Amino acid sequence: MPHLLEPDAPLELWLRDRGLPAWRAKAIRRWLFASRVESFDEMTDLPKGLRDDLASEFSLWTTSIARHHQAEDGTEKLLLQLHDNQRIECVMLRDGDRRTVCISSQVGCAMGCVFCASGLDGVIRNLSTGEIIEQLLRLSRLLPPDERISHIVVMGMGEPLANLDRLLPALAEAQRPDGLGISQRRITISTVGLPPAMERLTEENPGYHLAVSLHAANDELRTKLVPVNKSIGLADIMAAADRYWETSGRRLTFEYVLLGGVNDSPDDAAALARLLGGRAALVNVIPYNPVAGLPWKEPTATSRERFLGILRDAGVNVQVRRRKGSRINAACGQLRRLEPILPSHASQLAQGER
Ligand code: SAH
Repeated sequence: MPHLLEPDAPLELWLRDRGLPAWRAKAIRRWLFASRVESFDEMTDLPKGLRDDLASEFSLWTTSIARHHQAEDGTEKLLLQLHDNQRIECVMLRDGDRRTVCISSQVGCAMGCVFCASGLDGVIRNLSTGEIIEQLLRLSRLLPPDERISHIVVMGMGEPLANLDRLLPALAEAQRPDGLGISQRRITISTVGLPPAMERLTEENPGYHLAVSLHAANDELRTKLVPVNKSIGLADIMAAADRYWETSGRRLTFEYVLLGGVNDSPDDAAALARLLGGRAALVNVIPYNPVAGLPWKEPTATSRERFLGILRDAGVNVQVRRRKGSRINAACGQLRRLEPILPSHASQLAQGER
């Protein structure tokens, strides 16, 4: 059964085919997003027959919650089990008034970044639009009724620009005023840097906030850390980033995972400052979050501060991403690896932990 909000099975068309008015779709979305019901049957102002028909044609849930972790800082992480027993992660981050959700776009990842847990076993498949929307629905249900999701970051498992066809309809759904009503400006898509897909975003959807994961300022080092860089190269990525910026007028963000002794030297910082020179860019420095079994080290406080200082002195806007939820393995792809779950146990767990 397709998910109710899959664009291939548009709710509005389905209603029209039954001779039902379009405002029913609004009502259904309100139940789903504002009232946060769990089933069609709870949509009590819909005629019973319609509720039954909806339930026999669409699913509201194709995932189950296999694990639900809560950290002391308010970060919550869900491990969702998909219909084919694959697992993905999504996270709720609380920061002041902000309720930022971090969602996944693929099961696994093909980019192969050597320090990232998500790509260790390659990519298994793209997520469907419904599976991406379900992460938002599941996460919104962690909030009390008077709180709403305020920001979305597509920084979970996977490379979002390798799955734009399914991601963009899900993000469009998130923006609907009769749904979550999250403006495009509050949605960040993080990419390893795939120029053709960046061009497509520039043409079709330049309103999103784009974050490009650099991790190195020269191709030799970057290809070691981000193997997919071998066939792309920094020059094309920066050119595509510049075009996105010229079209969107939105400040670009570059992410840089700081790995102790690997890409955190003064020379690395100076090279990064040169690469970004003259751009209205923000560098988000992310201290490496250790992944079990990988040989990388966190930067020392001294090397981190030195790195930041060189960038600041060169006039580059830089911020350090604070680590949230590290005790619950909130870094992308970590939980999925730590929690092998037998398919037959998953639904039980989902019931127990909800
Ligand atoms: N594929 C996309 C989005 C997913 S990852 C991308 O590459 O941007 C989101 C960010 O987390 C990326 O910058 C990624 O490099 C970073 N990241 C991955 N593993 C990490 C780790 N172990 N510690 C710190 N940051 C990590």
